[in-house]
Amino acid sequence: MTRPKTPALFLPEEHDHGHCVADAIEKAEQICASRGSRLTKMRRRVLDIVWESHVPVGAYDILERLNAGGGRTAPITVYRALEFLMAHGLVHRLSSLNAYTGCDLPGTPHGAHFLICNACGAAAELQDDQIDRAISRGASKAGFAVDAPVVEVRGLCPACREAE
Ligand SMILES: [Zn+2]
Ligand SMILES: [Zn+2]
Ligand SMILES: [Zn+2]
Repeated sequence: MTRPKTPALFLPEEHDHGHCVADAIEKAEQICASRGSRLTKMRRRVLDIVWESHVPVGAYDILERLNAGGGRTAPITVYRALEFLMAHGLVHRLSSLNAYTGCDLPGTPHGAHFLICNACGAAAELQDDQIDRAISRGASKAGFAVDAPVVEVRGLCPACREAE
């Protein structure tokens, strides 16, 4: 998979989000197919909900959305679907928010480095190899084995800065 030259970070409110979703689902299907994994109906539905916006969503909100039509999906089902999606790099978990967000670059190994807006809650994935390298370098000096190179940076997104 090729890395886009100018990855979009915070997209304007009026962007074609349907395109983001279609793209994410298509990539997810390709990745699962290439690894012999199945994007089951439930996994796909959870991925759809995570991709409803660029604002990370909590597991219980996902559950509520799933059961909005009178369904009786159990929390464990949602957590299992999220585990699957994370294992395939399709979603990231943001610990500071205890929420999940869709990955912009699934299929490409990378750490999870996010800019998170304190006002609207939108999260954008920072794509910078230098961050990964700096983390590896620092960790190896410390004799530390990195498991999750997660970076969560809080602040204000361009739209919220403008609204201030
Ligand atoms: Zn979008
Ligand atoms: Zn990602
Ligand atoms: Zn914002």
